[in-house]
Amino acid sequence: MEIGFIGLGQMGSAIAGNLVKAGHDVTVWNRSADKTRPLVEIGARRAETPTGAAAGKVVFTMLANDQAVERVVFGDDGVLASAARPIHVSMSTISVALAERLTEAHAASGGDFISAPVFGRPSFAAAGKLAVVAAGDDKALEVCEPLFAAIGQRTFKVGAAPKNANVIKLCGNFMILAAIESLAEAMTLAAKNGVEKATLLDVLTNTLFGSPIYQTYGDILLHERFEPAGFAAPLGLKDMNLVDSAALSSRVPMPFLGVLRTQMVTTIARHGEDIDWSALGKVVTENSGL
Ligand code: NAP
Repeated sequence: MEIGFIGLGQMGSAIAGNLVKAGHDVTVWNRSADKTRPLVEIGARRAETPTGAAAGKVVFTMLANDQAVERVVFGDDGVLASAARPIHVSMSTISVALAERLTEAHAASGGDFISAPVFGRPSFAAAGKLAVVAAGDDKALEVCEPLFAAIGQRTFKVGAAPKNANVIKLCGNFMILAAIESLAEAMTLAAKNGVEKATLLDVLTNTLFGSPIYQTYGDILLHERFEPAGFAAPLGLKDMNLVDSAALSSRVPMPFLGVLRTQMVTTIARHGEDIDWSALGKVVTENSGL
């Protein structure tokens, strides 16, 4: 399929690479043009503008935040300026409000909009093992099915309203950070009482907490693998702010969200912008005096 891919960060590079390897005709664009080189080397084409990457049947965006998506879609040389009217598949973790704005803007211009945020860190993206949470028009989703199959192990279709997928993604990231915080607190409590962290994890992740999140992040916390960042702390903070906006506008009190956000700000203040969000575990340990 002739497709475009916009945003070649940690996630986008890996996802676009899998689309090229699956045999699709992929045109890529990234703000920093040098990141297009590895994709061009394996067969992708480079566009000069986002509009140039939106000339096929489908165009993906995988960008840092709302501002980046707004620039790439609504800019003079953006996706909406393309006469081809491709299906726009937005994979970035963005606000519910922006998903609604994108839905309206695409409807007004006669194009289709799919929200398809993903669960899985960059290593999962590289292995084609993401979980894709997709929402939008059924026919447009059908067109995208082979593309999702090339990048993920499972696609969940979660309704006709694109924002549904964004709500689920934000709920998921809130729960992941809550799990990291509780894991870090429990591991620190165990360590201060002379119990090996590895022993605690062995018991819990092989019994009541046998889920990928506890296993993956338990391992990261145990070995303190916070650099290089797989999911950078500022992106984690951005997501907690997106959860907060959604919670405020829908009048859902989420008191624990405040704790997580403060922990994320503390993590960045103490350990810098380039650290993984799970370095929140370092803050928990430091606060215990260890
Ligand atoms: P990343 O490595 O920081 O990449 C961010 C991308 O956004 C880069 O291509 C960057 O371009 C581009 N960008 C930033 N600001 C821009 C602007 N104003 N205009 C145009 N382009 C801009 O981030 P990532 O880890 O790939 O994450 C991308 C998205 O996926 C985020 O929404 C994140 O929350 C979500 N996500 C991440 C993970 C993960 O584990 N990493 C997992 C699931 C979902 P440059 O190269 O020029 O900087």
